[in-house]
Amino acid sequence: VLALLLVGCSPEASLGPAATAAPGGPAAPAWSAPGDSLLAPGQLAAMVRGMGLSGPEELTHYTLDISLSDVAGEYQGEGTVAWTNLTGAPVSALPLLLHPNAPAELGAPGAGSLALHEATVRGRAVTVERPRPTLARVVMEPPVAPGERIEVGLRFGGRLKLLDAQANDLFAQAFGGMGQLGSPVGASDYGLLGQGDGIVTAASAYPMIAPFDGDSPLEPRPTGVGDLAWNEAAIFELRVLTPEGLRVVSNLLDAEPEALGSGTWLTRSAGAGVRDLVLVASRDWAVESAQVGGVTVRSWALSQDAAAGAKALEEACATLATLSRLYTPYPFTELEVVEASLIGGAGGVEFSGLTLIAGFLYRDPRRSRSPMAGLMSLLGGIGGGGGGLPPEIAELTASQRRFVVAHEVAHQWSPGLVGADAHRSPVVDEPMAQYLAGRAVQELLGDEAGAAERDRNVLINFALYRLMGGEDRATDRPTASFGSSLEYAALVYGKAPYLYVDLEERLGRARLDAAIRGAMQASAWEVVDGEGWLAALESAGASGARERGRRWWQEAHGDEDLALDPEGRAALRLLFGEEMAAQVEASFAALGMPPAALFQMMGGGLPTTRPYAPGALSPAEMLELLDEP
Ligand SMILES: [Zn+2]
Repeated sequence: VLALLLVGCSPEASLGPAATAAPGGPAAPAWSAPGDSLLAPGQLAAMVRGMGLSGPEELTHYTLDISLSDVAGEYQGEGTVAWTNLTGAPVSALPLLLHPNAPAELGAPGAGSLALHEATVRGRAVTVERPRPTLARVVMEPPVAPGERIEVGLRFGGRLKLLDAQANDLFAQAFGGMGQLGSPVGASDYGLLGQGDGIVTAASAYPMIAPFDGDSPLEPRPTGVGDLAWNEAAIFELRVLTPEGLRVVSNLLDAEPEALGSGTWLTRSAGAGVRDLVLVASRDWAVESAQVGGVTVRSWALSQDAAAGAKALEEACATLATLSRLYTPYPFTELEVVEASLIGGAGGVEFSGLTLIAGFLYRDPRRSRSPMAGLMSLLGGIGGGGGGLPPEIAELTASQRRFVVAHEVAHQWSPGLVGADAHRSPVVDEPMAQYLAGRAVQELLGDEAGAAERDRNVLINFALYRLMGGEDRATDRPTASFGSSLEYAALVYGKAPYLYVDLEERLGRARLDAAIRGAMQASAWEVVDGEGWLAALESAGASGARERGRRWWQEAHGDEDLALDPEGRAALRLLFGEEMAAQVEASFAALGMPPAALFQMMGGGLPTTRPYAPGALSPAEMLELLDEP
């Protein structure tokens, strides 16, 4: 595996035809965006085209100074955002999304926070409406005319959540996470604005101008299911201040930290073409880097996790090389793979140019000091072994990390390059990332072993959910309509990706790959929904994509199409492999129980979920009915 992995990282690994402009080619554009060298050659022009802009100077542009302190457990920011009104209508209130307040809005106290202290427009302080914790509206008097570009001054700041010191322990996470999977509130920010176990994460920690659909701003309420944030590509220019020794890595091009005096460091960063901003900081980074074609890939891990960090680097390089070769080149010139203290069952979180990978995936579970690990270890002894956790558990974590890294890197293509509304159409990017991760792992391990690893990470979500009594339902719907994270994981991450496996079997791999490549190129930097993406695949040569898409994404044939049985035998084989599954099944048969009983015992039953009723009115809308004549 190691040797195979290294192939992707070798300096001569090719990313297909070089995309640099030939000498004597077209002159450089008159206006170059700050941080535009984060974009691969040709991508700035592709972005302008895909987003329907008349030039890069219409991109939303944040210029921010941010101070981030692990000592105070706080951050503060000030600066401006320049925004062009491309909605076609006058805008009298500009919505700013304050995503880190999602847990507070959902009723979960104690999370990180983001407060907008002040906003100015055209140099004057203006009224800010605050309808709810995740939304502020800057009142524009006079309204912003169509085509007008305005600069909004911002002053903001907030708290970092203090995460459990065991935030990166597999056992502490697994047993603490179960309740959270059932509840749509528990850890809905995944620790994305927090500090714990030596790592500070500040994701989406600034007032973000809402994306628009035509002239309607998209400002949905948080649901606690799925991704917190998404947006159109923008430009960021930052000066980040930290206490000396706290080293920041962002999803932009970062300069080396400069000493400012008074025990403070300044890090300058800039990047064009990113959909969000994330800062990760630690006093204890081990950094390794490699080149894949023209892309610099860096892995950042705590020094105690340096060995796993080096593996994550190889895995990211291999995925980047595979997907660039099979589909279309990676759109940026840098990729950061960063260990982070994530909670709530998240294995990783994607941002343009940077992926967060949960710390527990870097640790050997056998070295865990959690009491749960001790208990499991004792149970292992009772089972007849010599006691202690079996060595396979370390291999299991390593293979899970390999898949998570591949999944997060795959997100650079979807929703990085091809945009998707994470709240309305999660079916676009998550199943694509699962399928592409499977392909990358197949490339590494061989078709059969790679498919087995894919199924262990993908299909298992749906298989276990069904054994616990979860209902098979449509997958192409907004995150708000999912009753729990478990249901969401089962349908969107577990079932929906098999549309692509199905198409691969029907059309052949070469034809499906060509269709995915064509659809990605045709939809680059646009925002597509489920139907639009299936249509793009179909017109790029994936015949039947829409019809099969209806079956996999709108209907409920999962058990039949994925050959799952109600007794749980298929799930058992997925988890343990053929041989051990037979043994487990035999011991359950001796007790007169089907294997499904094991999963029901392990899972502890399905959480209460809300019914799925498209079109049902909200309580506020129901009350409004009384006011109608
Ligand atoms: Zn994902």
